[in-house]
Amino acid sequence: MERIEKKELKKLIRENVKTLYRKTLENASPEELYQAAVFAVRDVITDKWMKTHDEYYERDAKVVYYLSMEFLMGRFFGNALINLEMFDEVKEVFAELGIDYNMVEEAEPDPGLGNGGLGRLAACFLESLSTLSLPAYGCGIRYHYGIFEQRIENGYQVEVPDNWLENGDPWGIKRNEYAVEVKFGGNVRAVGKGNGEYRFVQENYQSVTAIPYDYPVIGYGNNTVNTLRLWEAKPKTRLDLKSFNEGNYQKAAEEELLANTLTDVLYPADEHIQGKELRLRQQYFFISATVQRVIARFKKKHTDFNELPDKVAFQLNDTHPSMAVAELMRVLVDENDLPWDQAWDITRRVCAYTNHTIMSEALEKWPMELFSRLLPRIYQIVEEINRRFVLELTEKYGNNPDKIRKMAIIADGQIRMAFLAIVGSHSVNGVAALHTEILKKQELHNFYELYPEKFNNKTNGITQRRWLLHANPKLAELITETIGKDWITNLDELKKLVPYAEDAAFRSRFTAIKKENKIALAQYIKETKGIDINPDSIFDIQVKRLHEYKRQLLNILHVIGLYNQLKMNPGLDLVPRTFIFGAKAAAGYHRAKLIIKLINAVADVVNNDPTIHGRIKVVFMENYRVSLAEKMIPAADVSEQISTAGKEASGTGNMKFMLNGALTIGTMDGANVEICEEVGRDNIFIFGMSAAEVQQKTQEGYDPWMVYNMNQEVRMALTSLIDGTFDPDTNLFRELYDALLNGCGGRADEYFVLEDYADYARAQWDIDRAYRDEEKWVRMAILNTAESGKFSSDRTIRQYADEIWQLPSVEIV
Ligand SMILES: *Cc1c(COP(=O)(O)O)cnc(C)c1O
Repeated sequence: MERIEKKELKKLIRENVKTLYRKTLENASPEELYQAAVFAVRDVITDKWMKTHDEYYERDAKVVYYLSMEFLMGRFFGNALINLEMFDEVKEVFAELGIDYNMVEEAEPDPGLGNGGLGRLAACFLESLSTLSLPAYGCGIRYHYGIFEQRIENGYQVEVPDNWLENGDPWGIKRNEYAVEVKFGGNVRAVGKGNGEYRFVQENYQSVTAIPYDYPVIGYGNNTVNTLRLWEAKPKTRLDLKSFNEGNYQKAAEEELLANTLTDVLYPADEHIQGKELRLRQQYFFISATVQRVIARFKKKHTDFNELPDKVAFQLNDTHPSMAVAELMRVLVDENDLPWDQAWDITRRVCAYTNHTIMSEALEKWPMELFSRLLPRIYQIVEEINRRFVLELTEKYGNNPDKIRKMAIIADGQIRMAFLAIVGSHSVNGVAALHTEILKKQELHNFYELYPEKFNNKTNGITQRRWLLHANPKLAELITETIGKDWITNLDELKKLVPYAEDAAFRSRFTAIKKENKIALAQYIKETKGIDINPDSIFDIQVKRLHEYKRQLLNILHVIGLYNQLKMNPGLDLVPRTFIFGAKAAAGYHRAKLIIKLINAVADVVNNDPTIHGRIKVVFMENYRVSLAEKMIPAADVSEQISTAGKEASGTGNMKFMLNGALTIGTMDGANVEICEEVGRDNIFIFGMSAAEVQQKTQEGYDPWMVYNMNQEVRMALTSLIDGTFDPDTNLFRELYDALLNGCGGRADEYFVLEDYADYARAQWDIDRAYRDEEKWVRMAILNTAESGKFSSDRTIRQYADEIWQLPSVEIV
């Protein structure tokens, strides 16, 4: 079934509404229409999906398994239609039925099975894998509750559970036939094999059943439909509890409790470890289930495990899945009788690790006590990996206890997951050029010295199918009209737009589209927040997780600085600007939540001060998520990418903005460095210290009071934090004041907000000046879009496939 006629589609939607809900089109809710539409297109997807998997199996193709605790997929429906090249057709069908298509799309829940960049990267990668006809599975967890829904009450973040499964799950297919058992706890016993060797068996364990749900990942314009396989925990089949003796009853009840909580909820901390027992269990749960299934599938066609690396690649998305190294060893050695050395060689050739952060609070470590209690056999295997690794170090460096203590996988009573991943993999990659250099020179220098051949860079990317074709249809249409549609699968084609920066007619259409997108966002802000904003103002947007290193505080302090200047000098010549924020803070991250409160407090004062005549406005958009990003980014004039240099591994939000013709104000951090390289120094607003300068100042020490004393604007902005301007009755923001100047507990101004303030303000005035020259501005905007080709996740995935996975494509005809 290649295509469905419009007539047929109408019939299907009408019938589905009737059979699913006993309703007519006229009285069906948007939710019901959405479900009916999904079922109308599902057959097309299923045919391709089955064909894809038959083909992989018949050809015995090599498959990559992208292992990730998070997949931040965004809504499925619109992008499924785009990739099936059915979007326009379905939109027309709804129009002809008198139904607003956008309303149907908006009825789909936005599954938040990830925190931010890392989970969204996994989603873009899966989409590119399918579009490039590469055999792949995404493997993760089917959390019943994704990242919380954020509400703002009285300026404060309030977390509400996100029950994305409430109205069913039309995209997921439950695969009971692939259920596997995952074991926790108990003890390990060595059983003689009779030939002088031992087999290790886990006893007295608790176990749960892992059940996979498969979701289709549709390639653009081809017939590939890969699979996102998310595992859910279920209690094992219940026996009659009454017939149990007390001990068995207790165990069965505990197992049921474990299974019922294991995959309940995503941990909402981004770039920060939560050393919770349940989190460790979640990690082992999905890794064990995945590894067991992969080996079972391999054994259907193979008897020689030496062929495993020719058929299977595991990519570890950060350290969260690094237990795959030990679990694969367990399955090969314990369950398939392979000698250790052979299993180790195979494991290392299968596994590859991506490092996502150098923030020390995010480097994953688990206490030996917890790890060995929960996973006794895995712990033994990690111990053995560590013992052999320490021997290797001793052979290479002699008796060097200092080096060994620094590099050991197990040390100071803790298991260091990054080191396990590095030792157990053949590839270690960073996610932007600067980040990989920092790994090699600093954070992982010892490992780089030991295994230089493992280290490589894979600069992140984003899929243009979601972030331009779907999110910004008007710009997509203009581009296609101008240079053809090849950009959809080859983003470097956008370079053909460069000459059009000099074409007045093209410039005016580009500007008009940006303006329409801004008006649409202004309307959405009016509807959701009740705030009037000026569509002719500069839309200056910072959307990303709230984290001190991302420096939303620098942005809002600068807003306060501007506000103070406007109050003192009402004649100040400034282009009207709307500062728009969106950010979730981890539920337990007090300081981040206080910054959200500050942004809202500033918004309240600034937006309601008649004396500044609406020349600046501040908006905090609630519940930032993929579907909201798709509404906001196309309307941005300015993209705020202002992390402390050296702290943001790559960033991908920066790429989405660039693609949509926003100009970046940013530090030389993460992929900003490469964005600057591509678009040229004249078409980006760079400010602040470099990563090297930050490192030096961190070592030398830095006194924020020096900035305070020298810079009146900073001094006044800081004073506004504590003089009641933004909280008349309390001393609410004194904590932020103290953190910047005195460092309550930690270092004073650890992220160099004050040190970078002056240059940030300078860059913001540069933007103000540039924006006044409309023709110049739109030229720069066009060049940003035109030079964004490098940042397609298609490019990134091709590099992974060629340089790490050795993964050939398999065309589905
Ligand atoms: C792209 C994206 C991110 C990552 O943004 P950064 O600016 O790179 O941190 C986070 N959340 C959502 C919803 C995204 O779409």
